[in-house]
Amino acid sequence: MSDLPASPIRVVAPATSELLAEVPDEGEAGVELAVEAARAAAPAWEALGVAGRGEALKKWRDTILDDPELVPTLVAESGKPRQEAEGIEVLYLCELIRFSIRAARKALREETRHPFLFMTKKTRLVRRPLGVVGVIGPWNFPILNNGADCVGPLVAGNTVVLKPSEVTPLTSLRLAELWRKAGNPPDVFRVVTGRGAAGAALVDRADGVMFTGSVTTGRKVAARAGERLIPCVAELGGKSPFVVLASADLERAAEAAAWSSFIHSGQVCIRTERIYVEERVADRFEELLSERVKALRQGVPDARSDRAHDLGSLTFPHQLEVVEQHLADALAKGARLVSGGKRRTDLAGCFFEPTLLLGARQEMAVMREETFGPLVAVMRVKDAGEALRLANDTHLGLNATVFAAADEAMAFARQLESGMVITNDVLVNGMLVEAPFGGWKASGLGARHGVEGVRAWTRTQAITVRRPLLARVERLIAKLLAFPYDPRVLAVLRRATRLLYRRGLVEKLRRPPGSPRP
Ligand code: NDP
Repeated sequence: MSDLPASPIRVVAPATSELLAEVPDEGEAGVELAVEAARAAAPAWEALGVAGRGEALKKWRDTILDDPELVPTLVAESGKPRQEAEGIEVLYLCELIRFSIRAARKALREETRHPFLFMTKKTRLVRRPLGVVGVIGPWNFPILNNGADCVGPLVAGNTVVLKPSEVTPLTSLRLAELWRKAGNPPDVFRVVTGRGAAGAALVDRADGVMFTGSVTTGRKVAARAGERLIPCVAELGGKSPFVVLASADLERAAEAAAWSSFIHSGQVCIRTERIYVEERVADRFEELLSERVKALRQGVPDARSDRAHDLGSLTFPHQLEVVEQHLADALAKGARLVSGGKRRTDLAGCFFEPTLLLGARQEMAVMREETFGPLVAVMRVKDAGEALRLANDTHLGLNATVFAAADEAMAFARQLESGMVITNDVLVNGMLVEAPFGGWKASGLGARHGVEGVRAWTRTQAITVRRPLLARVERLIAKLLAFPYDPRVLAVLRRATRLLYRRGLVEKLRRPPGSPRP
C-alpha cells in the first residue's frame, strides 16, 4: 500500500467539457475500510429476511423517484439524452427492484430433498448470502450497470461495496446518499471512488464479485476471483450482429437498426455493432436506414428540461479515437460513407456525428472489434446461410438481433452463438429482468437477472438429518457401512448394487431416485 495519497479524480461533463466535481481516489485503503464496515453490517442485514430487505429497497426506490438531482447528475456526467437517463436507467432500476424482491422469495426458499439411496435421511437446502459482494461498474450506464447491479446481491442478503468507473462516479455517490436518506443502514451499501487499483483491491477482499466492463479487465478480475475461489459474474463486451433476411418488415427493421446502433451514441454493450442484410432486399433496407440516420438530431443534452435530442455526446473521449480508427480502416478497405464521418468541432464537448457505412466486408475492424461509438456498417450477404456464418464469426457472443418472418427468425436465432437473441425487435431484451442477461464466449461468465441473478449471490448449505420413525433402519445401514469392514457386508452391498442397477431395474421403479415424494 503506497503512503502517497492518489491525485483526486476530475469528473468532466463530456458534452460541455466543464469540470463537474473532484472526488477522491480512495484506493486500497478506502476499499479496505468499506469492506470492513460492510462485513460488520452483514449479519443484521441478513437477519432482516427478504421481507425486511425488500422494504429497504422499496424505500430507496421511492427516494430515488423523488430526487430532483439524480437524473441531472446522470445526464451531466454521461452526456446521454434525458430520455435515456430517465426513461431507461431509472425505469430499469425501479423494475429490477420490483422483480428482485419477488425473485428472492423463490431463490432463497429452503427446500427438502429426499434421497433414494439413503431413504432414512432427508436433506434441507439452506441458502445463505456470500457476505460482502464487490460490484465494479463501467462508465456507460451509471445506474443500470452500477447501482442496479447491487440489487441482486443486496436482496439476497449480502452487503455491497460498489466501485463505479472513475469516469462517471457521481451518479453512484448520489445513489448511496439516497440510500442513507431513505433511512437504510449506511454500511449495507457503500460506494468507494477510485481508479482501476481500487477495483483490483475490491476483488482481493470481497466474498463475490459482479463485474461489468471490458474483456481485458474482465479476464483479470475473473482470474483473480479464480485464485481466491470466490464467485464472479462478468458482463463484458459485445459485437452484436443485426441480421435482416428477405422476409423481414424492412421499415421496422430500419427503424430498429437506427435506434439500436446510435442509442447513447453507440456506447451500449448490446447495441447493434454490425448489420448483415440479404442481397435481395438490401437496396430498400439501406435506403430506409440512410434516411433515418440522416434525420438524427444530435446536441448537448438538457438535464433540466424534456427538450429532446436523439444523441448526446460520447462519455469517454477515448471512444472518439476508436471510432476514427474503425472508420479510417473501413474507408481504406472500400466501404462507402453515407452520413456523418467526423467530430463535431462546433460543440465544446466530445461529439462524433452519427456515421453510417455501406459496402462493409467482414475483414474490416468495424465488423470484427467492438466499436462502442456512433458508427455502424452494413454488409450485404447472399442468403441466410452466409448471414449466420458471419454473425457467428466472432470471439464475442453477448446479444444478436434477427429480422425475418417469425418461424424463420426463430430457426435462425437457435443457431446463433449468442447468450441473448431478440427477433423482430431490438435492445428491449436487455431490460427484461425475468430472463437471464449474459454473454457466451468472451462476452462473459454467468448472468444477471432472473431468479438465477439473485441465487448467484448465495451459497447453498445442505443439512442432512434423520427422518423420524426410521431410526432402527438407519442404525442397521450405519452398521453396514462402518468399521470394521466385513466381507459378508461387502457381498450384500455387491448383490444389492447389481440387483438395483443392472438392466435398469432402478429406472423401472415407480418413483425415480431423488424425485420429490408425492
Ligand atoms: P473497463 O474494463 O475499462 O472498466 C470497468 C471497471 O473496472 C471500471 O470501474 C474500472 O475502473 C475498473 N477496473 C479497471 N482495472 C481494474 C482491475 N485491474 N481490477 C478491477 N477493476 C478494474 O470497462 P469500461 O468502463 O471501459 O466499460 C466499457 C466496456 O464495458 C465495454 O467493453 C462494454 O461492452 C462493456 N459493458 C458490458 C456490459 C454487459 O452487460 N455485458 C454492459 C456495459 C458495458 P476505472 O474506470 O476507474 O479504470
